[in-house]
Amino acid sequence: MSFIKGLKEINAVLDKPKQSGNYQKTKWLKLADGESVKVRFPNELDDESPNFDESRGVAVVVAEHTNPKDYTKKAVCTQDDDGRCFGCEMHQRENDKSEYKGQWRPKLRYYTNVFVEGDDPYVAVWSQGVSTKSAFNILREQAMETGSISNVSWKMKRNGERTETSYVLIPSAPDSEPYDWTGIELFDLEKVVRTVPYAEQEAFYLGFDADATTSASLDW
Ligand SMILES: [Zn+2]
Repeated sequence: MSFIKGLKEINAVLDKPKQSGNYQKTKWLKLADGESVKVRFPNELDDESPNFDESRGVAVVVAEHTNPKDYTKKAVCTQDDDGRCFGCEMHQRENDKSEYKGQWRPKLRYYTNVFVEGDDPYVAVWSQGVSTKSAFNILREQAMETGSISNVSWKMKRNGERTETSYVLIPSAPDSEPYDWTGIELFDLEKVVRTVPYAEQEAFYLGFDADATTSASLDW
């Protein structure tokens, strides 16, 4: 729907409930530059981990497109599931240009719950790219080396801001007793990740969607 015509259509877009579709209100992990916290990762990377638990589930990695002019407009690539994807179409258009930048290229992102320990503990969602330089890779190495990431406490420190942000992750020694996860409520990661139906993707990415700015600016 490139053109929104008439009050009926305009109202349908503007008055749409804020939590429509599969989207849920998410608390994102927000650390200041230089801040460090102690955290736990409830979601193992693999369901074959000895510490995997069905009730906590695994972390997810998804292919996403981002509008290069607006990093809040980020959604899952639907090419494989739906055979159609506005982000892939934009990427194809980039390919056709002489100066290829690959800004619409689908990129993999990791989403996990994170339990922040301390006096006032809370659960938030943390999302990262998966490049070899990313903090995700520390978790992946730990999981491959020891089989688990949920059986240790981690010191997590944020350095830098916006696109210069990086995270340091240092694991403690493994728990001697299984950690007690009782009462710790997690976000459903499949609902945290934003999936937009093809018919609404152009409006979403290019910004006619009235509620598109309510989430997800926050995963630097
Ligand atoms: Zn795509």
